Amino acid sequence: MPLFPKVIGQDDAKRRLFKAMQNNRLAHSYLILGEDGLGGLALALEAARALNCLRGVEAAAQNLCDCSSCRQMSILQHPQLMFLVPLPRRNAEKDEVIQKQYNDTLAVWAADLYGIPKLSGTGMILIDYVRELWMNLNLAADSFGMRCIIIYPAGRLNENAANTLLKLLEEPPERCLFFLLASSPRDLLPTIVSRCQQVVLKPLLRTEISDALIDRKHIGADVADSCARLAGGNYHRAATLAEGGINERLADGLQFLRAAATDSPTQISEIIENWTEKASRFDIAERLQAVAAWLHDALLAAALPTEEALEMLITSNETETVNKIAQRYTTAQLSQLWRDIEETRLALEANVVQSYALMALALKIHRVLR
Ligand SMILES: [Zn+2]
Repeated sequence: MPLFPKVIGQDDAKRRLFKAMQNNRLAHSYLILGEDGLGGLALALEAARALNCLRGVEAAAQNLCDCSSCRQMSILQHPQLMFLVPLPRRNAEKDEVIQKQYNDTLAVWAADLYGIPKLSGTGMILIDYVRELWMNLNLAADSFGMRCIIIYPAGRLNENAANTLLKLLEEPPERCLFFLLASSPRDLLPTIVSRCQQVVLKPLLRTEISDALIDRKHIGADVADSCARLAGGNYHRAATLAEGGINERLADGLQFLRAAATDSPTQISEIIENWTEKASRFDIAERLQAVAAWLHDALLAAALPTEEALEMLITSNETETVNKIAQRYTTAQLSQLWRDIEETRLALEANVVQSYALMALALKIHRVLR
């Protein structure tokens, strides 16, 4: 059984936390860095489970355990486990509304540690909830184990909340461990970042993702493999693709590529409008991956003997289209577009307006492929 069995991949991060637990050298607060879907929450929860397991840290970290503490942890209902998440303002919403939103958020995670709940209320973590947490932490704790506080997404702490949290992190109550989960340290106050030990998550390997999809979502090996290839190292993205129709996404990607190549401005603007309407950066990144998938496959088809290439295609059932692209364009053209897509993805991560970035990409595609 691998270390922290509920966490997919991330061996370095796991080993580091496990060592710190074994040697009793845990920091007070960890900043787990990585985009949603890489396993930050799974890692924090596995650590919390191990630290409170009745059979001890080592047994829990290396096995799934069903002691009463581990059972409570697995449904996220453990007295030693606390969450700071975005919730509506106390005076604007009734307590039961807030409680429901809190429960809904936890229910998403209890069902799938890689799930991403909708942000509620202002979408921010507000100071009231940091104060409440502080009060709760001042109450007497269980004599056993360690209180684990998960702050997710920590980039959503508003300024007041962050400043209050900072004071808490500066004088942490006894036997408390804070896990702040964020995509980038830039999303947090530097003073908070400097109080935390950083754990950086890595994009997952394709095989790690496909094995997990087969195991957890009971997806067939072929589809799992295609989703894993398209997901850019992100398990959540792969699972969404597996559940929400990878073929539809690929068709979207091809449509974009075709419209851009054939200079059809109306169609391109329609597609972009469609894509950006209510879409998160996450969704757009997934769509870009779908565009890139066709280039990936065409490059493979051009470079490898057919049998070998077929094994590795993301668009596994679309060999005819892939071959057409491969025959029509040069490797240089296709690799140029591959780089353009990567640039667009980075621009979107840096918060460039989505529709501008996509339009710029469409123009580049047109210039290269016309
Ligand atoms: Zn246990």
